[in-house]
Amino acid sequence: MSQVQTVAILGGGPSGAALAVWLARAGKTVVLFDPGKRPPLIVGESLIPAIMPFLFDLGIADEVKSYSKIKPGATFILDKGRTIHSFKFDTVPGAKCTYAYNVPREKYDATFRAAAARAGATVLTHRAQVEAVEGTDKLKLADATLAAAEVLGGKQPDWIIDATGRSRKFARLLGLEADEGPRKDIALFAHCDDVPSLDEGHVHTEVMDWGWSWRIPLPDRMSVGFVLPAERAAQYGDTDEARFDNILKRDSIAAKWNVNAKRITPVVRFNNWSLVARRGVGENWALVGDAFGFVDPVFSSGMMLALTSANELAMALTKGDGSMKAMKKYEADQASHVRGWQEAVETFYNGKLWSILDVGMRMKETTWFGRLVAPHFEANIPKVFTGEAARDKHALQLIRTMCKYGLVDVDVAKFAVHS
Ligand SMILES: Cc1cc2nc3c(=O)[nH]c(=O)nc-3n(C[C@H](O)[C@H](O)[C@H](O)COP(=O)(O)OP(=O)(O)OC[C@H]3O[C@@H](n4cnc5c(N)ncnc54)[C@H](O)[C@@H]3O)c2cc1C
Repeated sequence: MSQVQTVAILGGGPSGAALAVWLARAGKTVVLFDPGKRPPLIVGESLIPAIMPFLFDLGIADEVKSYSKIKPGATFILDKGRTIHSFKFDTVPGAKCTYAYNVPREKYDATFRAAAARAGATVLTHRAQVEAVEGTDKLKLADATLAAAEVLGGKQPDWIIDATGRSRKFARLLGLEADEGPRKDIALFAHCDDVPSLDEGHVHTEVMDWGWSWRIPLPDRMSVGFVLPAERAAQYGDTDEARFDNILKRDSIAAKWNVNAKRITPVVRFNNWSLVARRGVGENWALVGDAFGFVDPVFSSGMMLALTSANELAMALTKGDGSMKAMKKYEADQASHVRGWQEAVETFYNGKLWSILDVGMRMKETTWFGRLVAPHFEANIPKVFTGEAARDKHALQLIRTMCKYGLVDVDVAKFAVHS
């Protein structure tokens, strides 16, 4: 008989709910806990093409499409507006999917939870509590949480999964160590009316006087976010509202599009850094999605990490039957996926990614060697924007090699993010 019969998942965001679908489909008894309370606005509105196959597999692609805005590409505005890279996903050779969506998060999360219930998982509105089992590497549900999950019949589940996002419930309880990224920025974020864009449906990412901004077109509004060091943000006012409004008014780059912009929601503040847990699995527990690791959102990678990890954890618990070999493989693959994204993100901040593209374009125009290698560049570098690069050793190696050897005497600071 299978070693994995019952699984409790803490957290009904995309990673927890997708995991619940895949496990329930495989015949496991699954309980998905979520308190059902979220901040007024949630980040994670811009999807990338690489996650579309997951939405199809989960049977929710049409529902997501019905309330979202199609996203055909990504636009990056650099060097005080002098350089604009507008990537259309359908021009990326070999891309697995050529579009994505910008999603209202509340509806999107509700779609995931409904899919979990349809697949047969028990979805409970409950802030779950876990406890360490003394003298072991095991966790158990606290009495009140176990009692809330009647389907478990008073028996502890075989596996307990942390999908609580940045709350990182298990890491805090067990004191798990994590490797943190180099930056400590904050993100101030709100929805606005009358904010223009250059390319219909594209996420717009723009290097600002300090830090960078996003503009994500939603069906009836624009999501606007400013990412910058906390000390810089503090110079714009005493409250997050004042800071957001003043950055919008005073930043010389935002001045190009802020003329009629009106904020229509409160401002929400997120800590914006990256982190990966050193341990992602234990004897009867595992971490998934943001609870395992997260990166700076400049390439909209969070949902991709969340769904990839949910999918691979489901495989480890079903095909791998929760064996330590299967679970350790899951842990290693997920850690390397997070690190792959961290590496790509770093090239955005230090200006090297754009310098590589710059050098590549100039070489293509002026040398036979440039024309020879151009197709290779054009097939691999844009994988960062479709979401395929962090799992593609070839694409990552090309970026690494170019950063190391291809940028001698190139002024990368021109494209760097100012902190
Ligand atoms: C500034 C910023 C911008 C971002 N922009 C993007 C973007 O454009 N695109 C993108 O793909 N990603 C983006 N992300 C990342 C994205 O938001 C996350 O990667 C994604 O939400 C992770 O999903 P998750 O299911 O792992 O966690 P979450 O979505 O955080 O879900 C966790 C769930 O756990 C629940 N929970 C917490 N504690 C308990 C408990 N004790 N019991 C039960 N449930 C509990 C919470 O209520 C919540 O529902 C951004 C992140 C930041 C910080």
